[in-house]
Amino acid sequence: MTRKRTPEPYVNSIAAPTYQSASYYFDNAGQVRAGLHERVLPAGRYGRYSNPTWLEVEARLTELNEAESSLLFASGMAAHFTTFLSLLQAGDEVVLPAESYRQVRNVFQRILPKFGVVVHELSIVSPEDFLSAVGRLRGRLRLVHLEMPSSPHMYLIDVARVRDIVGPEVIITLDSSFSPPPNFYALRWGVDLALFSATKYLNGHGDIVAGVASGRADLIEEIRWFRDTTGPVADGHTAFLLGRSLHTLALRMARVNEQGLAVARYLDRHQAVSRVYYTGLETHPHFKLGRDYLNGHGGVVTFELGRTEEETAEVVDRLSVPFMASNFGAPQTLVEQSTFFTYFEYDDAALRSIGVDRSTIRLALGYADDTDQVIADLARALS
Ligand code: PLP
Repeated sequence: MTRKRTPEPYVNSIAAPTYQSASYYFDNAGQVRAGLHERVLPAGRYGRYSNPTWLEVEARLTELNEAESSLLFASGMAAHFTTFLSLLQAGDEVVLPAESYRQVRNVFQRILPKFGVVVHELSIVSPEDFLSAVGRLRGRLRLVHLEMPSSPHMYLIDVARVRDIVGPEVIITLDSSFSPPPNFYALRWGVDLALFSATKYLNGHGDIVAGVASGRADLIEEIRWFRDTTGPVADGHTAFLLGRSLHTLALRMARVNEQGLAVARYLDRHQAVSRVYYTGLETHPHFKLGRDYLNGHGGVVTFELGRTEEETAEVVDRLSVPFMASNFGAPQTLVEQSTFFTYFEYDDAALRSIGVDRSTIRLALGYADDTDQVIADLARALS
């Protein structure tokens, strides 16, 4: 009985295959040396360190982001957390936008300080005030983390000026989950590492949880060591689904950019809506930054009704097209009342500190839904 598998004779599959193996054998000691010790052969090895399906999707993410190298992770949070733990040590000072994603904020507020990292949380609502505050920390910082657009208000940051202010030594990471290419190319603007929840637009089917870091090869190698040691890795099937989805990313982004603008314009004219946050509208406070940095504004539209939380909930309950769920970039339209979902643990003071009103609704348009039907549904619910 031979335990070795006959090498696959039919290898010209156009779709990259899924490799689902915990480890990969070597043919002889020479291959162990080349594959494991010197890493010049992609042979053998162990499933926590390498998987051919990851390698395929990582190479395509590198190309997509105009990066030097990329890594795939088990989730967007795993990509963020592993990046920060790899690159920071006790005594390092870092900047975090106050309006960043709640769980990333938890990492900075509640986990990194336990390891001696000093966190400066700065609001990005006023782009100039943010830049001045970063400037006051010049010379002290090891890393600046950015996120744009931010949720739920879609705030933007003058990224190139952040780089000018902090100089070349400081690492800049940017959570680009809401604005993947072709809407925004983070690495063109002085960012060292673009981080993504690939659960969102990159995958675009609402059927995997995954994360990505793309950028400078020297930093990626530090993060790779940390990932391979601690193990927040995605499996082969997840990598396959993400690779499959990347073929349609540009098509899907073009579609949601159109849908987002149409729905934002509709809501902006509606009497029952007190405020709309969409960077493609001139009424967005960061519209001008959007013109400079973004090629499209995406499918997430946030709006306020200027009513109580309960009255807002009644409006959301009347919607029948969207699923009431928290995600974006999926084929289906999803809706969440921000203070019932992402910020349900925040009290009034905490909500005020990040400017979230109790009547805030975040609508994430699904590219497979008909925009006119979504608008008709909104009209009915708001009437
Ligand atoms: N960053 C942003 C902006 C997000 O919205 C999310 C998830 O909602 C994450 C990071 C975390 O990604 P994941 O849910 O894939 O861990």
